[in-house]
Amino acid sequence: MYNAGSEKAEEFISREEIERTLEYAQRVKDDMSVVDSILEKARETKGLSHREASVLLACNNEDKVHEIFDLAFEIKQQFYGNRIVLFAPLYLSNYCVNGCLYCPYHQGSDIPRKKLSQEEIRAETAALQDMGHKRLAVEAGEDPVNNPIEYILESLDTIYGVKHKNGAIRRVNVNIAATTVENYRKLHDAGIGTYILFQETYDKAGYGRLHPAGPKHNYAYHTEAMDRAMRGDIDDVGLGVLFGLENYACEFAGLLMHAEHLEAVFGVGPHTISVPRVKPAQGVDPASFDGGVSDDLFAKIAACIRIAVPYTGMIISTREGQGVREKLLRLGVSQISGASRTSVGGYVDDEGPEEDTRQFEVSDTRTLDEVIKWLIDLDYVPSFCTACYRAGRTGDRFMELCKSKQILNCCHPNALMTLKEYLMDYAAPETFRAGERLIEKEIGAIPKEKVRDLVRKNLVNIQNGQRDFRL
Ligand code: SF4
Ligand code: SF4
Repeated sequence: MYNAGSEKAEEFISREEIERTLEYAQRVKDDMSVVDSILEKARETKGLSHREASVLLACNNEDKVHEIFDLAFEIKQQFYGNRIVLFAPLYLSNYCVNGCLYCPYHQGSDIPRKKLSQEEIRAETAALQDMGHKRLAVEAGEDPVNNPIEYILESLDTIYGVKHKNGAIRRVNVNIAATTVENYRKLHDAGIGTYILFQETYDKAGYGRLHPAGPKHNYAYHTEAMDRAMRGDIDDVGLGVLFGLENYACEFAGLLMHAEHLEAVFGVGPHTISVPRVKPAQGVDPASFDGGVSDDLFAKIAACIRIAVPYTGMIISTREGQGVREKLLRLGVSQISGASRTSVGGYVDDEGPEEDTRQFEVSDTRTLDEVIKWLIDLDYVPSFCTACYRAGRTGDRFMELCKSKQILNCCHPNALMTLKEYLMDYAAPETFRAGERLIEKEIGAIPKEKVRDLVRKNLVNIQNGQRDFRL
């Protein structure tokens, strides 16, 4: 029985409801009066239900698909403007006791195993700071012996403690296996930003096949993880599925049902949604899974997510190449990773044996400076902002601001000030010049004169060596 407010995975992600949703979407997708009324509702920018959004995803009418893309772009502009937040993953350890068939870190794999020491974490963090990164996502496999919660907590402490030249990591998001309320509370107390856990697939039967061994085999425990995280006081959580494993329409409906569940139970939806696709890796061939998603369909999925949950950030990683990333930036992506290494220890030694420990092949291999220059040339403002988290604007406080679009009054000035820091400390000369021109142009877009003046003053302060200004 479907119940968004239930605490049981099988009820808030009910298989029957997913099937009924997909049937409904197929039945009405060519009825333009239904599609138009959903688009009308979407224009109010308060979001759509999983059923409504699934109809848009199923609709193949060319004109309507154009409308969906245009609307996604408009909503993106309204909520996020032209800012793109940057981050990088930091792999701590690839020891793992799970059996995920799509991941080279699974327990039966002969991939070289590596776990960073605290000294190595300091070196990786300094290397990330030297690129200009301020926001990280730490990643570790599940292994109670090699990667216990104490190791993760100690590593967080180490990362936050590294102050290298003008560098600082100001927000660390955490992507580790589903755990207990008690451990989530420890992560919260250690000052993490968002807790990210990909569901991988919302198809319960498929989930069982893809996770034949290890604690992750327990579908309910994994699916209810965000509820435990919320009970452990983590109020920013990030959802995601691995597109390409199972039927995309089922994943899309499940993802939105999960968001509706969090909203129903905790009054706050997910902070972010990630949209990774399965990529080649050691022993992993994406073609061996059932749910391949073309680039065009992938773009439509992203656009429909943007429309369905306007206030939820959307993340795309370097799993995707420059072309796909460029397309999705327009359709709703608000955060991207840059210059990522998906190996353990890969920032310090990106050509050595660490490369053999990669979780997946990176498609976008550009340096962070190249990514920044590319964004500037496309008229996006690269942002290293971490202000909300540091000002305690998390969970429902963040969502309130975001839903009322008030967040726009903070984001733009913060983006410009953090970009200025990047330009001063890390940019190549050409990027520096392009960035300075962009900042000058974008200051004019700040509506309030008082804020404009403050930003100008802070930009001079940054020029003179001060750092870390935020609204
Ligand atoms: S996806 Fe995560 S849990 Fe699964 S094998 Fe890879 S590291 Fe382990
Ligand atoms: S002000 Fe808050 S929402 Fe805006 S970019 Fe910064 S951290 Fe994100």
